[in-house]
Amino acid sequence: MAGERDHGYARYRLDGCRCYVCGFARSRYDENRAKAMTAGTWEPWVDAEPVRVHIRHLQACEMGLRTIAAVAGVDRKRLQAVLNGRPERGTAPQEKVRPGLAAAVLAVEPSLENLAPSTLVSPLGTRRRVGALVAVGWPQQHLAAHLGMTPSNFGTMLGRPHVLARRVLAVRAMYDALWRTDPRERGATAAGIARAKRYAANRGWAPVGAWDDDTIDDPEAFPDWTGRCGTLEGDREHYRLGIPPCQPCRDARNAYRRQGRQARKAAHVDEAA
Ligand SMILES: [Zn+2]
Ligand SMILES: [Zn+2]
Repeated sequence: MAGERDHGYARYRLDGCRCYVCGFARSRYDENRAKAMTAGTWEPWVDAEPVRVHIRHLQACEMGLRTIAAVAGVDRKRLQAVLNGRPERGTAPQEKVRPGLAAAVLAVEPSLENLAPSTLVSPLGTRRRVGALVAVGWPQQHLAAHLGMTPSNFGTMLGRPHVLARRVLAVRAMYDALWRTDPRERGATAAGIARAKRYAANRGWAPVGAWDDDTIDDPEAFPDWTGRCGTLEGDREHYRLGIPPCQPCRDARNAYRRQGRQARKAAHVDEAA
């Protein structure tokens, strides 16, 4: 069960955990991969250990050896020889590998496309995308139908702590297909659109325009409602647009007030002196 993954690389990658342990595991992964990739550029044989480490990272993300071999375009037996040697021949794990094999394996990353479709992953990007579509007027039953799901299964999916990798991909494709489309063109009624918008507003779901495609899956990203969120101007813009201020804007306002108090205090001290 994905909820019980230990903190480490897989948890960073699949569950979006950004704790210290997971962040450290991610930097170890990057370091191992980057070092091994440059090492392979000029030697006839390279150390097999970074390749083994990389395969174990992929396995921790629930990628099977068969899949890793297929994505890398190499024979599975060659990966087994790197991992375990050939016990039937009495050989130990390989100490050196050809740079070509190393490069092919190191190029494989546990991206959604490479994961097993049934791998459970963080629902964050999926919720944000669905929320963004509802916020611009897409009724949830239309989105469910687009995915070939019943409205009730769709609702259940959104409430779960994890989603299937294949659903994440399907919701991404749906988002890319619909974000610029007018729901009316697909048969949504004016009342249905108004209801969807109200529903999203009540839940604070950010609309399509507030998200950046590059960061919508990033746990640390926040929606930019005003085009200037996280600044004092953004905070004022919320009031002008009638959208409740978001947390980064509230933080900016509080920081400004704190600075003002400190400046007044300092001025007071100057006067007294
Ligand atoms: Zn963690
Ligand atoms: Zn804001």
